[in-house]
Amino acid sequence: MTAEQLVQACRAVASAGLSPGSSGNASVRAGDRILITPTGSSLRRVTTGDLAELALDGSHLSGPAPTKEWALHCAAYRSRPEARAVIHLHSRAATAVSCLACPPGADPLPAYTPYRIRTLGRVALVDYAPPGSNALADGVGRAAEGAHVMLLANHGSVVCATDLLRAVDLCEELEAAAELALTLHGRDARRLDPGSAWG
Ligand SMILES: [Zn+2]
Repeated sequence: MTAEQLVQACRAVASAGLSPGSSGNASVRAGDRILITPTGSSLRRVTTGDLAELALDGSHLSGPAPTKEWALHCAAYRSRPEARAVIHLHSRAATAVSCLACPPGADPLPAYTPYRIRTLGRVALVDYAPPGSNALADGVGRAAEGAHVMLLANHGSVVCATDLLRAVDLCEELEAAAELALTLHGRDARRLDPGSAWG
């Protein structure tokens, strides 16, 4: 059942146009084990038989070889005990925003709407490190301690959620907020104070 739900989540983000080509990977946690998409797969075509099973420390338990970015998924779960789903994407707008210059400590995804503040919270920016590297996984692990939505500099995004449906929603909401930020980039747009999102 969990495997089927993971496949459905993969199809959902692919249908939304958020995982170009064979990019992107997704996982779901059940107990102390993680089901994760395989290396070299398209989220559009992945099936339950393609999924790899890992322990939380990344040990390969069964199935095909996992995505090369498995370590960042494990790092996110270890930092966020409530997380049951992690999705990493190279979607167009979020990746574009991840490439914009951002002063240290500044919000990499400016808040223009209360919806952005309420759904995504504080978005963290993870310093660039090569895809699949331990340095990238370590960066995600540190950032995930304080944020459930992350931009990976010059790479893409990671979202963590308490279930797969919420994770898919977060991916779509992040992409919408990133598109808005790109539309307004360089303009004299009014930003919202995070505290003003709540009545
Ligand atoms: Zn990636």
